[in-house]
Amino acid sequence: MGFDLLKETAEAGSIGITGHIKPDGDCIGSCLALLMYLRKAYPDKRIELFLEKPAPGFRNIPGRELIDSAFPDREAFDVFIVADTNKERTGDAEKYFDAAKKTLNIDHHVSNKDGCAMLNHVEPETAAAAEVIYKMMKEEYIDRDIAYLLCMGIAHDTGGFHFSNTTAETHRIAARLLEYGFDYAGMMDETFYFKTYKQNRLIAEVVLGSQLHLNGKLISGTLTLERMHKLGVTKDDTDGIVNQLRITEGVECAMFVYEKKAGVFKASLRASTDNINVAKLAEHFGGGGHVRASGCEREGVTIEEFVEELVKEAALQLDV
Ligand code: 5GP
Ligand code: MN
Repeated sequence: MGFDLLKETAEAGSIGITGHIKPDGDCIGSCLALLMYLRKAYPDKRIELFLEKPAPGFRNIPGRELIDSAFPDREAFDVFIVADTNKERTGDAEKYFDAAKKTLNIDHHVSNKDGCAMLNHVEPETAAAAEVIYKMMKEEYIDRDIAYLLCMGIAHDTGGFHFSNTTAETHRIAARLLEYGFDYAGMMDETFYFKTYKQNRLIAEVVLGSQLHLNGKLISGTLTLERMHKLGVTKDDTDGIVNQLRITEGVECAMFVYEKKAGVFKASLRASTDNINVAKLAEHFGGGGHVRASGCEREGVTIEEFVEELVKEAALQLDV
């Protein structure tokens, strides 16, 4: 486990990079930082990044225009790197991975601890993929934009340095990145804290309809497509809902279940104590993630039935 990033890409004429579908701050920051870093280290190589279109809050981040969201046909890459996920969640970029001569995987998801590529660098104990990537980088090629992107990744996956995955080392790395002098507060407002008026109202809506289960140790909130249509929102407006549910006092596990497309339900799961491992819970339904943040999908049942199944499965772990 583990490899040297510059050594493993040194011989390649072409390098492709991707992350996961519905890319979050860690995924976007990690992939863009990798792209800019490798382009600096190897100015003569063809290096490209393929990712679904980032949410509007990321419109001003450095390198935003370098992301290709069209997933065009390409000759097989000499090296293809998958960051912050395994290959199953790479969506339209999976074709590049399958065709590549050499594949690399950099991740921090416990559900992907063995990796999915020819060479793997997975650190399940590390807070963010961006933190793993920083540790694989040589300081000489890091600049202010790369530092911004790495710090954004770390700050997003640690919930602004407050989740339990945040370590002293996480803070030390962030401190080193801050020395590059970018506007951290502005970056966090724009990419992390700001919600549209519609999004804020949606959080209120789901919280209002939420239900407590298992003596108040579990909370669930749901959102159907019909409701989304009525409220004039899409699944892209659902960020932040599960975290709002999670901070309910007494709750150890929060679930937000929404209808991704007709009849297909996506669950976002969060834990706030060690009494429940939501990676294990998600894996039961074919999903995965981290001990305290995970997700899974289900079809063939109603949204209420899916919630009931999730609660039943969570009850096996929670002492009720
Ligand atoms: P979120 O709830 O924010 O979508 O996801 C939380 C965490 O769980 C993320 O780290 C994400 O990568 C992981 N995750 C979410 N959904 C799935 C899924 O369907 N399969 C797997 N393997 N991981 C997921
Ligand atoms: Mn991540």
